[in-house]
Amino acid sequence: MNLNEIIELDSKHFMNTFGARTPVCFEYGKGIHLYDIEGKMYTDFFAGIAVNALGHSHPAIVDAITKQASKFIHCSNLYYIKQQALLAKLLTDVSCADRIFFSNSGAEANEGALKLARAYFKKKGQPNKYSFICLEKSFHGRTITTATATGQEKYSKPFAPLTPGFKHVPINDFDALSKAVDENTCAILLEPVQGESGVHPLTKDYVTAVRKLCDEKGIFLIFDEVQTGLGRTGKLFGYQLFDVEPDIFTLAKALGAGFPIGAVCAKEEAAKGFEPGDHGTTFGGNPLACAVALASVTAILDEHLSENAANMGDYLASILLTLSDKIIEVRHVGLMFAIDFKEPIAVTVKQKLFEKGLLVGNVGTTTLRVLPPLIITKSDINYFICVLMEIL
Ligand SMILES: *Cc1c(COP(=O)(O)O)cnc(C)c1O
Repeated sequence: MNLNEIIELDSKHFMNTFGARTPVCFEYGKGIHLYDIEGKMYTDFFAGIAVNALGHSHPAIVDAITKQASKFIHCSNLYYIKQQALLAKLLTDVSCADRIFFSNSGAEANEGALKLARAYFKKKGQPNKYSFICLEKSFHGRTITTATATGQEKYSKPFAPLTPGFKHVPINDFDALSKAVDENTCAILLEPVQGESGVHPLTKDYVTAVRKLCDEKGIFLIFDEVQTGLGRTGKLFGYQLFDVEPDIFTLAKALGAGFPIGAVCAKEEAAKGFEPGDHGTTFGGNPLACAVALASVTAILDEHLSENAANMGDYLASILLTLSDKIIEVRHVGLMFAIDFKEPIAVTVKQKLFEKGLLVGNVGTTTLRVLPPLIITKSDINYFICVLMEIL
């Protein structure tokens, strides 16, 4: 089947949620490279939107999938699952969390975190504490409740009426946040670095003050680490950027290195919100997903990919800053990058990079978004810079 035939099938039979996609269909990948059905090679500086932390076809991931799939894939959560227990132990060993619940996606993990917070305060005899404060321009997912939490109307408006109990305040504005907290607030939900809306980091002072406020008011701090988790920011978890621990945080994207899995991670006290029967999932935490995530997290730790993300991020930023006067700002935390142009050329630049076999993303018309796999080297960055410089 050629590309045009695939595009025709897609346009006839797939729901039109993604619009006109980039006209390419990949056949296989290796490391930071993808190969399309005509054999053309691409260099992946977008990593499946921050998912492919280990690049493509990492031997440990291929091995984990093959081995587990040849044993069994699914058995339901009615039975004990060794891989799930081991993955929960590993995540609690390396993070501030004491207990984990596994989902299939980021949105589902965030739903779980919101449910956990509401359930906790109901059980504590404070049923009036049910509302959440979130940030403008945030992104938390596409279910009705996580779209409500998301601080961008375009994601929620078509699906009104939305879930009650959500307020939005501007990023890094502690006054606005503390004014928004009232007797109904149960938790504050934050991305350590806003990803989808163009790499907007929280400041350390802000997060420190928010943590203090949560402690004073007896409410939860929840971090959505779906994108920032597992090395992307140069730390294993985004909360480590601020030396502040959340009560609950969520993971997904890099957790399964491309295999769908998410996680709700909570401190012992917060985890008391869920009692048997309160929450569940059919697929979540199945042996295959957990075996893959075990391999993925182990590789991220063993290959020191958080450190690599920090070093490579600083290296890429140092070059980008002096690359061209068409670039007016570079925002980055580890390997989360937004490159702002003076003029609305982001789509054209993305398109030209694609023609030259480089995959990146954009936010609006002036910002390029770059999210390379965490395994990239200096020579990969030099190659990217060369091509980008030529285009600019
Ligand atoms: C991608 C993302 C989500 C949604 O994850 P899905 O797996 O697409 O449901 C939620 N929060 C953040 C911060 C994300 O980047």
